[in-house]
Amino acid sequence: MSITKTEWQAIKDNNKYYDDIFWYAVKSTRIFCRPSCLSRLPKKENIEIYYTKEEAVQAGYRPCKRCQPLGEPVSNQEWVKEIDTILLHNYQQKLTLEELAHLARGSESYLRHTYKVITGITPQKRLMNIRLSMAKKELLETDLTVKEVAESVGMENVAYFIKKFGEYYGDSPLQFRRKISNKIVPPKS
Ligand SMILES: [Zn+2]
Repeated sequence: MSITKTEWQAIKDNNKYYDDIFWYAVKSTRIFCRPSCLSRLPKKENIEIYYTKEEAVQAGYRPCKRCQPLGEPVSNQEWVKEIDTILLHNYQQKLTLEELAHLARGSESYLRHTYKVITGITPQKRLMNIRLSMAKKELLETDLTVKEVAESVGMENVAYFIKKFGEYYGDSPLQFRRKISNKIVPPKS
């Protein structure tokens, strides 16, 4: 299933003659497309090739909203699931709404609107929820510094990370870690 030169070229050219010959799936977003899809070119190493669309579906990939590789429109409910998957796979990177919209194959405003209508929160809020709960987990399970934890969840601005963490959990990251470790490690007698 690794990609051949011809397939890579067809994807780069959005070559519609290769539609229905193969489909390409993008590992970092779990979405698959027709070769002719006009969305931004993914990294080559993230691509998997399938010769039937059913196989792509079986492998856990979801249809692109833009090129509709299953030949039917992607519902907004389905699209929101795709967006959540992208958030979970990419929260460690700096992920702007623009970048998210690229990855999810839609426009920024439409994505934000649709996501909010269906889930009740913005995609940015959802991303923050994921980042902070992952940060909590890392504070519990690793010895990473607060700065390292912030970076590992895609938040370069440590001060902002600390502020948000406090808003969510009522403690600073260090207070949180201290409280938890006090509970786990019994005090010396
Ligand atoms: Zn597509």
